[in-house]
Amino acid sequence: MLIRKAVRYRLEPLPEQEHLLSRAVGCVRFVWNRALSVQKSYLEHGCGLLSYVDMAKCLTTWRNGVSFGFLSESPVHPQQWALKFLERALKDAFDKSNPKRFPTFKKKGLHDSMRYPDPEQIKIDLRPQDADGRSVFPKIFLPRIGWVKFRKSCIIGGEIRNVTVSRSGGHWYASIQTEKEVPDPMHPAATAVGGDRGVANLLTLSDGTMFLPVTAYRDLQKRLAKEQKRLAKKVKFSTNWKQQKAKITRLHQRIAAIRKTVLHQVSTVISKNHAVVVLEDLKVRNMTASAKGTVEQPGRNIRQKSGLNKSILDQGWGMLKQMLGYKLQWAGGMLLLVDPAYTSQICPVCGVVDAENRKTQAVFHCQHCGHEAHADVNAAQNILARGLRPAKGLHPAGGLQSTAGHAGVVCSPA
Ligand SMILES: [Zn+2]
Repeated sequence: MLIRKAVRYRLEPLPEQEHLLSRAVGCVRFVWNRALSVQKSYLEHGCGLLSYVDMAKCLTTWRNGVSFGFLSESPVHPQQWALKFLERALKDAFDKSNPKRFPTFKKKGLHDSMRYPDPEQIKIDLRPQDADGRSVFPKIFLPRIGWVKFRKSCIIGGEIRNVTVSRSGGHWYASIQTEKEVPDPMHPAATAVGGDRGVANLLTLSDGTMFLPVTAYRDLQKRLAKEQKRLAKKVKFSTNWKQQKAKITRLHQRIAAIRKTVLHQVSTVISKNHAVVVLEDLKVRNMTASAKGTVEQPGRNIRQKSGLNKSILDQGWGMLKQMLGYKLQWAGGMLLLVDPAYTSQICPVCGVVDAENRKTQAVFHCQHCGHEAHADVNAAQNILARGLRPAKGLHPAGGLQSTAGHAGVVCSPA
């Protein structure tokens, strides 16, 4: 089995390196925007899309010309990668079965990043020493930028595939993607469990286990809302606005770090104890709407929630799903996603679906047979039952096959 992992390090570039990095991501943004406008004009004239090869030829012309000659002062591979990425984005936008959003022009300071796709060009020195033999910061070699120091927060396991350099919250980061071949694992457990995402709990399992929501960042959330209000009053893209934006980004990063730690703990425990985990296949769109609430569960504090819901609660949910997906796969288990319809209203004893069955947040009470249970545990049991229903093409041991029919799909790591 092939395991792909990414580790992200904070870079400590020298001022001149920071300048070079800024210029390099600026060039990548320029190439993306220029190529996108070329493609758009081709589309408007009914000429179809230019291929990556055609666009790469354009890039060579730009780099060798006078007007855009500045491009040649920055590394070429990230610029070519931008063209490849754009080609894929355009193809995805015209994909009839599952069309994605049409690519947009990139703005300075928002998602500044570039990828070095060729691992041959990247060198990493993990134990460098100074002239006196003392060990100093580890460093990474980036073409045209040079050796950049970084903070080694975790180990790099496997062979390097590519490196993405990005700027976020006023800092530079390098995300290193690695690949490692390992023998196919066998999961030590033989149990299957269903999980329900609740309002009161982060996750409730069908065996009764409950994971409490993260409360550690409640104060940070309040601060975030305050800072966001301040941002709204500033002129967009002004210096003040950018500073405020960076402040908010750093706050987001802190919240994200706390959330990530908790989700890692939860997903590790679950994936170690159970071979099969069944979750609801909740789409982002459904989740954004959930602040307003549903008929079965009207929302509270709608105004307060709607802004934070998407960024904090729901991202956490998607992340938990993703973590469980790859951790189970690495352990030899699998994650199943099922249709979420009515999982909180079905009675597991008599099978009747009734919105009245869940009158309160905490208790499930069947109006027909009188069965009573903890509402979230009941929903988790319904989710588990749905996941274990046999369907065509279900491969319990496979781990990666997509399954058709009502048993849902197997979630693979993105
Ligand atoms: Zn019943």
